[in-house]
Amino acid sequence: MLNRCLLTVCISVAGLASAQQPVALITQAPAGKWAVVMHGGAGVIERSSMTPERDLAYRAGMDAAIHAAAKVLDANGTAVNAVEAGLQVLEDNPLFNAGKGAVFTADGRNELDAAIMDGKTMKAGTVAGVTRTKNPISLAKAVMEKSQFVMLSGSGADQFAASVGLAQVDPSYFFTEARWESLVRQLKEEGRPIPPRPAGAPPAPEKPIAQLEGPDAHRWGTTGIVVRDRAGNIAAGTTTGGTQAKRFGRIGDSPIIGAGTYASNQSCGVSATGIGEYFIRLTVARTICALVEYKGMRLQAAIDEVIGGQLTAMKGDGGAIAMTPNGQIAWGFNTPGMFRARLVEGGAVQMGIYKDEP
Ligand code: ASP
Repeated sequence: MLNRCLLTVCISVAGLASAQQPVALITQAPAGKWAVVMHGGAGVIERSSMTPERDLAYRAGMDAAIHAAAKVLDANGTAVNAVEAGLQVLEDNPLFNAGKGAVFTADGRNELDAAIMDGKTMKAGTVAGVTRTKNPISLAKAVMEKSQFVMLSGSGADQFAASVGLAQVDPSYFFTEARWESLVRQLKEEGRPIPPRPAGAPPAPEKPIAQLEGPDAHRWGTTGIVVRDRAGNIAAGTTTGGTQAKRFGRIGDSPIIGAGTYASNQSCGVSATGIGEYFIRLTVARTICALVEYKGMRLQAAIDEVIGGQLTAMKGDGGAIAMTPNGQIAWGFNTPGMFRARLVEGGAVQMGIYKDEP
């Protein structure tokens, strides 16, 4: 079912197909089958500024994450466990703005936010401003399952992680040269002070590492997954380093239930990505689900209304992925690109990065 040996072929075919003949997306998963939809961030991600190698590396990263979620679901695992498994893979991949690979605050730290929500129970766990917990999504899940709270922040969240046995790391674990150079570049452009290189970071390379995918590509890149398991339950999760050069202590939409993350078996599950301040004010995730629940809108129409309509009208940038318990799968974004993929049990991964892909 999960034919990993087809991976390379799938990836390159997807890349070619997108440029030539768009393939129709599966928008409805059959009853009783699991389905996964994911994003790896939205922003100024353009074909012209991406090398073929990096394009493939991002696609391979998404493929690994979606298959990690699929493996849990194939073994009859729950939607919540599948979301965690997939997002851990993205947190461990330095290409994505979550876990290792998180962007820096303006003062040179990595402060991580994450959330998970179980649509069956409507329980949720979220964390903000974490600096020492290797996998913030697992901490969010622990908050949901092992505390009476919904949200923990800062050192209290990290201490809770340690108390439930989650791996702790030195903050320098989250350092990556690409993100550091990207921060320095942005701060210089904006005429803001450059913080000292963080303690514990490896020595600076003699020459800056290669320019990556364009000036904005590293500012965003949050990751999120929404799943429906075989039992028909929805779960959603989001994990991020937030926005590059944010003020320390700033919290985005990702760990705010109803803004960047939401799941309910009564309506849908959503994970969002973009400039969090807009998503918080528009309660994007909950609004999408409310349109489905109370107005009876199709999921794609609800995403289009909120992302293409409300968010765009407010001049906010970003996108969202979503799924309903009856198997509708949808995504939408108003940026030049969004890393995204979907997989339905028994099918092949459908993946896109740029706007001209289906
Ligand atoms: N939404 C995230 C935040 O504002 C950033 C992102 O999606 O890339 O923290």
